[in-house]
Amino acid sequence: MTLRSRLLLALLPLLPGPVALGVTPVDPLPPQTRTAVSALAVKGVSTTRATEWVRRLTDEVGPRLAGSAGDRAAIAWGLALFRELGFSNVRAEEVPVTAWERGVETAAVVSPFPQELVVTALGGSVGTPGEGITAAVVEMKTLEALEEAVKADPDAVRGKIVFLNRRMARGRTGPGYGATVPARSSGAAKAGPHGALAVLVRSVGTSTSRFAHTGSTSYVPGGPRIPAAAVSHADADLLERLLARGPVTVKLVLGCRSLPPAVSANVLGEVPGRERPDEVVVVSCHLDSWDLGRGAVDDGAGCGIAIEAARLIARAPRRPLRTIRVVLFANEESGLAGGTGYAARHAAELPKHAGAFEADSGTGAPTGFSWSAAESLGPALAAVAELLGPLGAGTLRAGGHGGADISPMAFAGVPLFGLSQESGAYFDIHHTADDTFDKIEPASLDKGAAAFAAMAYAVADLPEIHARPAVPAAHGAR
Ligand SMILES: [Zn+2]
Repeated sequence: MTLRSRLLLALLPLLPGPVALGVTPVDPLPPQTRTAVSALAVKGVSTTRATEWVRRLTDEVGPRLAGSAGDRAAIAWGLALFRELGFSNVRAEEVPVTAWERGVETAAVVSPFPQELVVTALGGSVGTPGEGITAAVVEMKTLEALEEAVKADPDAVRGKIVFLNRRMARGRTGPGYGATVPARSSGAAKAGPHGALAVLVRSVGTSTSRFAHTGSTSYVPGGPRIPAAAVSHADADLLERLLARGPVTVKLVLGCRSLPPAVSANVLGEVPGRERPDEVVVVSCHLDSWDLGRGAVDDGAGCGIAIEAARLIARAPRRPLRTIRVVLFANEESGLAGGTGYAARHAAELPKHAGAFEADSGTGAPTGFSWSAAESLGPALAAVAELLGPLGAGTLRAGGHGGADISPMAFAGVPLFGLSQESGAYFDIHHTADDTFDKIEPASLDKGAAAFAAMAYAVADLPEIHARPAVPAAHGAR
């Protein structure tokens, strides 16, 4: 049976279910909701416009580092597209962001054997003096090893360049990321107070290409601020081999710097609800990107999915009960200003949020959803997941915060949903110069957009809001 005919079968009216003790099981989806959700799921086997939105964003705007000219162009792009698509209440909601720019970035082994190294500054890092920093390298496998080393010898890293050398494991769902990212995000903050001069981090990513993966790093307020850069895997391997045979001296030159505070904005557009327009389901992605590539996979792909999901719902014969609000979040990569700004600005309205969805896991095929809501929502989600099975998107995983940008809404009990995707190849290009449009998988984006639309429609069309127990927000930059 073809995928299409399996999906069309799912559209047939419900046959009487198994009768036990004379009780017919009640469908957790109202009949008209089921019909609409099924019709949206079927869209995933044909060509949608999701890829078109990514192509236009990456070709017409390109890189979109928070607070940069590209960021401003992306906001204008989003507003124009939302108006073109006929969304309602199209607007930009400003948020303050920290701005930063990359400059020259070079590194080389000075001794024992002169060799150039491919490095890239971590976002938010301070630069080096113009003449660079030349110092002995000390290798640490993990931040825990660094803590142990300075406990044993307070001068273990003093006057040195700390090389944090832990390789990220490759896997279908990116399991190695969480284990390796702390070295990138807080390596400089941990090494600086012990007198280290700079930090080199083995790239957090799984590419075998000779480029480095950037990503944000942060400092302890009031603490020392030392330069931090990522090293390509090939060059991290070289450092590892040289360090195994004896002392190594490296020269690092970084021209990056912080810029004056800037303004960015979340971009919003709406498909008003049929009966309760003041109640909202957010479908989202983040609009900003790193500067090295063009932000196609992170998170142009998620924006293609979210925008197309809203467009598909807008064209459905029957609009959902509640408003679908598509949000392109600002500044996910370096501070989460868009997500925290949205939660603060809309705090009074959050009890009327029936759900928030985010797509921020690249261009791989959708596998299902992570969800965090009242358990009472479970049966309806399971019914939708069954309809998404033919797309390969029928797996539900309870827990998680759905996505970094929507996680600040957790404190208000807003049900959170994250699109799960195949991500074995995602971390090969994540935060690198290779994050470009050619990596996009159109058929996977079509399935993702349809799955996103179907699940968001269902949540927006159920009679009740299934608020989750409120918890402290779980922030975390991707
Ligand atoms: Zn992202």
